[in-house]
Amino acid sequence: MSVKNLQAIPFNHPYISQNELKYLTEALNGRGTSGDGPFTHRASELLERMTGANRALLTTSCTHALEMAALLLDLRPGDEVIMPSFTFVSTANAFALRGAVPVFLDCRPDTLNLDERLVEAAITRRTKAVVVVHYAGVACEMDRIGAIARRHGLAVVEDNAHGLGGSYRGRPLGSFGDMAAQSFHATKNVQCGEGGALLLNDPGLVARAEVIREKGTNRSQFFRGQVDKYRWVDIGSSYLPSDLLAAQLTAQLESFDVIQARRLAVWNAYHAELADWAAANEVAQPVVPDGCVHPAHLYYLLLPDLANRQALIAHLSERGVQATFHYQSLHTAPAGMRYGRVAAGGCPVTEQAADRLVRLPLFADLDGEGTARVIDAVRSYGVV
Ligand SMILES: *Cc1c(COP(=O)(O)O)cnc(C)c1O
Repeated sequence: MSVKNLQAIPFNHPYISQNELKYLTEALNGRGTSGDGPFTHRASELLERMTGANRALLTTSCTHALEMAALLLDLRPGDEVIMPSFTFVSTANAFALRGAVPVFLDCRPDTLNLDERLVEAAITRRTKAVVVVHYAGVACEMDRIGAIARRHGLAVVEDNAHGLGGSYRGRPLGSFGDMAAQSFHATKNVQCGEGGALLLNDPGLVARAEVIREKGTNRSQFFRGQVDKYRWVDIGSSYLPSDLLAAQLTAQLESFDVIQARRLAVWNAYHAELADWAAANEVAQPVVPDGCVHPAHLYYLLLPDLANRQALIAHLSERGVQATFHYQSLHTAPAGMRYGRVAAGGCPVTEQAADRLVRLPLFADLDGEGTARVIDAVRSYGVV
């Protein structure tokens, strides 16, 4: 059969469980759909149970959760924040918005996570925080990074956009930082189109986080009957999602185990069935160190070079399989150079990963037949 007759396999296809419509209808028929309604409470409680966070505050995006983190840290112009160069724009932009300087570090060649061996040398008098990103939901070396942060009095923020459901030495990702940011963008395992959450592990941050999220007012306290009127008490913005989005998110979080089991099946099939092809073609597969449990957020391959990466993407596209590259280094991006600086030694591993990495389709509704098609299409490519 010609591949032209087969439906193309998209890179991503957001999962919809059975309860989204039911909950959306309930939300529409309820008392109103503004923020902090009944579904916001349900989704927040589910997140707190999954991550062990002291409080989970739903936000309009992971980007906004990171902006809240930067506000909570009281960052001032010139303060420095250590982070990987191999990450999404928002990890850096949220801190640059406060005038802080992102200091970009290279990643480890195996996990593509912030290289913990480089952190201490990048600390200066102006360093205030370390931001980690658990790439593909595989944990950073949190024991080492946490110890360095404690020794130097630095805050730790987890950009946990990939990591919901993952763990490090038995502890959930999102529970290691003073704060952690989650994403529920349509491209993530659990999604409501656009959405996020700020997890607060330090109880001392909760009261101010509520104010920042509610336009700088103590409206949350007012609704709990703790004050008799609400007022402008601090700086803040409007970071609450509508309860409609929280309704969709509640249905998604309740389906977490189903979503994860299906994603993991695809991930495991790729990993096992591409192993021989990868070895024969000098292609690197993802590395999951001992003690790390990953949530099957993405499956990637590292080709020997840019030309082969591009050729593989084209080869897959011709066979109806949509694969894609990933992060382009922030330290060489126009805004990265304007607002940040790169640590001594540069980021050679990051630059290589940006050129060599390809991500394969991975979503809960990718069935065994689709997975096999992707595997066959990859195996029919020979590295040149
Ligand atoms: C998706 C993602 C973000 C941004 O998430 P939004 O919810 O779209 O703001 C930030 N950081 C990382 C690592 C991401 O993967």
